[in-house]
Amino acid sequence: MTMIKMRDVVKEYPGRGRNAEPIHAVDGVSLDIEPGSIYGVIGYSGAGKSTLVRLINALEPTSSGSIEIDGEEIVGKSESQLREVRTEIGMIFQQFNLFNSRTVAGNVAFPLNIAKVEPAERNARVKELLEFVGLGDRAKAYPDQLSGGQKQRVGIARALSTSPKILLADESTSALDPQTTSDVLDLLERVNRELGITIVVITHEMDVIKRLATHVAVMENGRVVENGAVYDVFSNP
Ligand code: ADP
Ligand code: ADP
Repeated sequence: MTMIKMRDVVKEYPGRGRNAEPIHAVDGVSLDIEPGSIYGVIGYSGAGKSTLVRLINALEPTSSGSIEIDGEEIVGKSESQLREVRTEIGMIFQQFNLFNSRTVAGNVAFPLNIAKVEPAERNARVKELLEFVGLGDRAKAYPDQLSGGQKQRVGIARALSTSPKILLADESTSALDPQTTSDVLDLLERVNRELGITIVVITHEMDVIKRLATHVAVMENGRVVENGAVYDVFSNP
């Protein structure tokens, strides 16, 4: 079954000022993201990439169209039903979004606390995740004691804590230097290959897509202007 199936998805924001035309941040997007793929969404700033991510994660209501996550329609669902759907989706960010007042372990444990996972299981899960991302010895450190790459590893561990089917990465390497970017991309590749998690990577950097993605959609002005296997999309003369 298709992991993320979008049909004619539109997100409209009110325009600024009186008589302003509404903004179509996402303007009729249809996409099929298959399980196990690493799907890149590329486009310039303002193309609608972040909006698309917020719609997939149901952080904002869709104006019209349909979004199915693993066969389940999310458009029109209640907030409590959406909480359930969101546990299937992990998210990582450009600025990492860690809690500075919590330890590395505390950050990774956070979604498990919300999900009321009992302490023994939670501790075991945190330990396992920190080892997976190569931070087994930094559980007690605080975010400001970590490098950018290490912070993103914590972000990845936290995003994986509830065992999601999908990982959404929004400009997740844009704040990192090239070597650190490369390490984080290696880790995302392992997340895909070893854990079988479908990854959606939002970026404005072609190198990230070429290095990591199996499929790509190119966005412009809220629309997908091209999509397919990375090799087909980018090998055109
Ligand atoms: P990208 O992530 O590709 O940079 P965005 O999804 O952030 O693009 O933005 C797409 C368009 O939607 C832009 O014109 C932006 O100004 C507009 N937009 C995004 N979010 C909002 C919002 N909350 N309110 C009004 N306009 C928005
Ligand atoms: P904070 O006070 O920053 O939230 P704590 O260190 O109190 O962080 O830990 C929060 C949670 O992280 C704990 O409930 C536990 O589940 C988990 N945790 C803490 N330390 C470890 C560790 N060394 N190994 C595994 N899990 C840990």
